[in-house]
Amino acid sequence: MKKPAEGAFPEGMAVGLPRTLYYFTYPGLWEEFFRGLGLMPVPAEPATQQKVERAGLLSESEHCLPMKMFDAHVAELVDRVGTIFVPRVLSTLKGHISCPKLGALPDSARALPGLQDKVLCAEINEDKTPLPLMLESLGMRLGRNRTRVRNAVSRAMEAMDREHFRLSAPSATEGRRMLLLAHPYNLYDPFFSGPVVRKLQALRVSVAMVPFERKALPPDPIKWDACSQMHHALRRLEARSVGGVIQISSFNCGCDSIVGEFHREVLREKKIPFLTLILDEHSSPAGLETRLEAFVDSCGW
Ligand code: SF4
Repeated sequence: MKKPAEGAFPEGMAVGLPRTLYYFTYPGLWEEFFRGLGLMPVPAEPATQQKVERAGLLSESEHCLPMKMFDAHVAELVDRVGTIFVPRVLSTLKGHISCPKLGALPDSARALPGLQDKVLCAEINEDKTPLPLMLESLGMRLGRNRTRVRNAVSRAMEAMDREHFRLSAPSATEGRRMLLLAHPYNLYDPFFSGPVVRKLQALRVSVAMVPFERKALPPDPIKWDACSQMHHALRRLEARSVGGVIQISSFNCGCDSIVGEFHREVLREKKIPFLTLILDEHSSPAGLETRLEAFVDSCGW
């Protein structure tokens, strides 16, 4: 299969970034990294209702919503840029593996119309290779010298840390508070988490987002990276610090459907109320608002 030739990445060349999955798992990282190498990162336009509907039409019907959104973002980028960055994501955390769907991303992208020669691939496997080393090797493959690549990597890692810190800061420090629990691509995408955050704020409830700390976790039976990070955050959670936990999950997410029971068990022991909202391309804001109102009311009893 033909791939973009090594060294064929001139200064200023545009690199498309589908705005989902690894874009949010590593917030702020890719833009800073590609910019540091003299390339022009071009994130896909933010998600909208039209894009969600398009995703539902374009993509395999059995996919979860983030995978459908990936197809829609790629379809938008294909006419705008000559190269789209699509890594093979095998692990984002030492000792853990990623959802198997993410390991096939470059192959599924290349199968889309017009994409065969446009995919810039790299392998993210933090169980074996730390992220900075993976970035360094990608930068060298793109024909940049080692000093420039190392500077780009260190600035990109700092940008990501700043983004993680900003995103996990609670919306207010006093009053009733809920913790939002979700994979980064549901949590940090304002189109998906925004309606939940806004509704809670309208109900005078402040919102904290589950932190995705990039540090090794103690052993546990959950081997999926993001699921394990969420589970450990719940295990550390102090019962008095939140009035409840709201999980935003995706229809057909196999990982969440299994790990959700582990989350429920931990929260039951701590007597913290737990609500799961399932998103798909047919989700309606009205149904979501009613469920949130009922949940907040019940937490007040
Ligand atoms: S973890 Fe779930 S939501 Fe994420 S890609 Fe896999 S199936 Fe989809």
